[in-house]
Amino acid sequence: MLDHYEDFDLSGHNSFAVAARCRELYRINSVQDLVEIPSGLDYLVLGGGSNILCGHFVDRPILKNEISGIRIVQETDTHIDLEVGGGMDWHDLVTYTTDRGYGGLENLTMIPGTVGAAPVQNIGAYGVEQDQLMVYLRAVDLQTRAIVTMHPQDCAFAYRDSRFKSKEKGRFFITYVCYRLTKRNHNIQISYGAIKDKLSEYSITIPTPVDVSRAVAAIRTWKLPDPNETPNAGSFFKNPVIYPQQFAELLESRSDLVYYKLSDCTYKVPAGWLIDQCGYKGKRSGAVGCYKNQALVLVNHGGATGKEVQAFSREIQAAVLDTFGIHLVPEVNFWAL
Ligand code: FAD
Ligand code: NAP
Repeated sequence: MLDHYEDFDLSGHNSFAVAARCRELYRINSVQDLVEIPSGLDYLVLGGGSNILCGHFVDRPILKNEISGIRIVQETDTHIDLEVGGGMDWHDLVTYTTDRGYGGLENLTMIPGTVGAAPVQNIGAYGVEQDQLMVYLRAVDLQTRAIVTMHPQDCAFAYRDSRFKSKEKGRFFITYVCYRLTKRNHNIQISYGAIKDKLSEYSITIPTPVDVSRAVAAIRTWKLPDPNETPNAGSFFKNPVIYPQQFAELLESRSDLVYYKLSDCTYKVPAGWLIDQCGYKGKRSGAVGCYKNQALVLVNHGGATGKEVQAFSREIQAAVLDTFGIHLVPEVNFWAL
């Protein structure tokens, strides 16, 4: 029996906490549910709602992923492969692995949302992206209802991007994702951001995965707003990557430019820095604003609509374009806007 709702309230299902309703919603607990839903409809897939911005009414039917469970697919002396239900909370998965001493996901601590959404924008933080750990994913093609298995090379993974977010957006419902974790000889990555400093603060010289997870949690708790207290959807824009000529011109006019040179000789400029330079850090316009510790995060101070957040984001885009000649591309997915 399908779990089906009409005129469903989405306010508690988007981390921006904007008031929104949808025409209909199905809770999906198994692959069988996906076989049974009506055909020919243009569905939207919802996980935890932590990377969407909604208008007040979503007219398309929504499939809410609630497929749970963790299954050991393979285990050796050195590693373990876990196949995880796409509806599982991502941070719960990270905790499950670090509590057991498994390594791999620790830098991705405290990323809100579901496991099934992780491949969509190839979630990443502190120098690690989920495709480095992913063995395969299973999905249902919503056009044909075929069950498919994809390996990382099939998914067009890139920086905060994949085939699921670009050319085939909305086509697949990701049901399960399998990750390979280390049981020893962990590939600990602490060169990024403030992780090393945080570990020194704890007097830890040889960190385990759980130590790194703790350090990341502490940094994130200080720097990012908790969506339960200050609704937001994380980074609103992607960090722009610019070509050498534009980079050289920019550096000439702004010697204080913050940037990271990438392996293909392009340059990543932190969007948060650009927004900050335009005077938006901590700035508020009505019920919308930029977070005080990280300008890249737009927040709902209470009662903001999706349209108001979108309008504020456009104002920021215009300011950054005007000041730096750089077009910021939203990372957040817009629904019914
Ligand atoms: P949703 O918001 O529900 O959906 C996002 C998109 O994925 C939608 O287009 C949806 O249709 C699609 N989708 C969801 N589930 C599926 C599925 N099973 N199959 C197919 N499509 C699906 N992101 C990072 O990369 N790194 C970070 O460090 C990070 N930090 C964050 C911090 C905060 C405070 C917040 C609020 C967000 C942060 N994010 C970060 C963004 C967000 O957590 C991720 O994008 C997360 O993967 C979204 O998961 P979700 O289940 O909430 O997806
Ligand atoms: P930060 O450490 O202040 O750094 C700002 C930006 O500079 C980051 O976005 C990061 O890009 C880049 N950067 C920093 N050190 C780098 C290095 N050594 N090499 C290359 N690029 C570097 O960032 P933050 O806001 O505190 O976030 C920390 C991490 O969590 C980042 O990885 C960020 O992406 C992630 N995060 C993501 C979201 C989201 O919603 N997507 C929200 C919060 C945090 P990268 O983005 O490429 O890492």
